[in-house]
Amino acid sequence: MTFDLKRYRDQLSQLVAQPSVSCADPNWDMGNKPVLDLLATWLEERGFSAEILPVPDKPNKFNLIATKGSGSGGLVLSGHSDTVPYDDNRWQSDPFELAERDGKLYGLGATDMKGFFPAVLAAIDALSDRPLKEPLIVLATADEESSMSGARALADQGHPRGRYAVIGEPTELRPVRMHKGIMMESIRVRGSSGHSSNPALGHNALEAMHSVMSELLTFRGELQARYRHPGFAVDLPTMNLGCIHGGDNPNRICAECELHFDLRALPGMDNDELRRAIDLRLRPIAERSGTDIVLSELFAGVEPFEEPETSELVRTCERLTGQSAEAVAFATEAPFLQSLGMQTLVLGPGSINQAHQPDEFIDIGQLAPSVDILCGLIEQLCINPDSKG
Ligand SMILES: [Zn+2]
Repeated sequence: MTFDLKRYRDQLSQLVAQPSVSCADPNWDMGNKPVLDLLATWLEERGFSAEILPVPDKPNKFNLIATKGSGSGGLVLSGHSDTVPYDDNRWQSDPFELAERDGKLYGLGATDMKGFFPAVLAAIDALSDRPLKEPLIVLATADEESSMSGARALADQGHPRGRYAVIGEPTELRPVRMHKGIMMESIRVRGSSGHSSNPALGHNALEAMHSVMSELLTFRGELQARYRHPGFAVDLPTMNLGCIHGGDNPNRICAECELHFDLRALPGMDNDELRRAIDLRLRPIAERSGTDIVLSELFAGVEPFEEPETSELVRTCERLTGQSAEAVAFATEAPFLQSLGMQTLVLGPGSINQAHQPDEFIDIGQLAPSVDILCGLIEQLCINPDSKG
């Protein structure tokens, strides 16, 4: 297969030129439709039928589902269309103008992960004269970098449906079949204030929080004694107490205190169960201290993800890349696509080391190999799905 770098660069420069930052901070947050419009046009030119679907309750946010061929199986190639914010003055060149230097293409989202889509287009072009026995679906989602609202909406709505899904996050072309979950939670303790000279005049929220923190650390110890997964560099579930705010004056009984923490669960653990377990452990502290304690999520969380070693998609990707599937330290949309019943795996060009920072780039050396792998996937899962190469 010959790889047309010029076409790749043209397409990527157009995608990069359309800002699509997603961010919990509304001052940064932008819509993603211009990126999807470009992709829809290119895919329609290649015989796909494209649908741009609004994300409920998120004005200006959309998912794109573009389908070619029909059947009950098929392959979804998925990427997110948004990027993180950027530090304008720390970039050597304009983040929205693709620049080539030293065998690298620089631009916001070049590696994470607008650069995946032109690689998909190149694979589609390379196989354009081969009829598909099973559908090929290109999915581009909204808000992966912030709330994952795009993938959440798809999981709720029950589409797209294929037998397999590959998410092209930057893994340096190594197949990734697992990652931890993420929960970010807040615990707010409300007591009542009073003169510090007499503790009976109030209910001290800071002291109650002290018990809350001890309880959390005990719970963490129990989880770490119970769960371990050798596939991960940090092979235990982790919990980080990240920030705390409370009180105002040494001579006032502290009425309010709030703690934020994260919890990264291993595959086999369940976010909702963890939340319930924590909540149960807070009840006796509230009772004892005469305070009100409320646990709430800071964002909706992402479940841990694991695709079995034995799954056909894992085997196929290991064969095509010559590498065994491994774990990564970042979360992806994989659990949402997997919840739709698809064998799911993460595999794409570029490195996470260049993501989320100034002078983000994708290494040109990764592009032709990524197109070869994508061609292999389409060939084996959509063109010749019956031959188990
Ligand atoms: Zn990403």
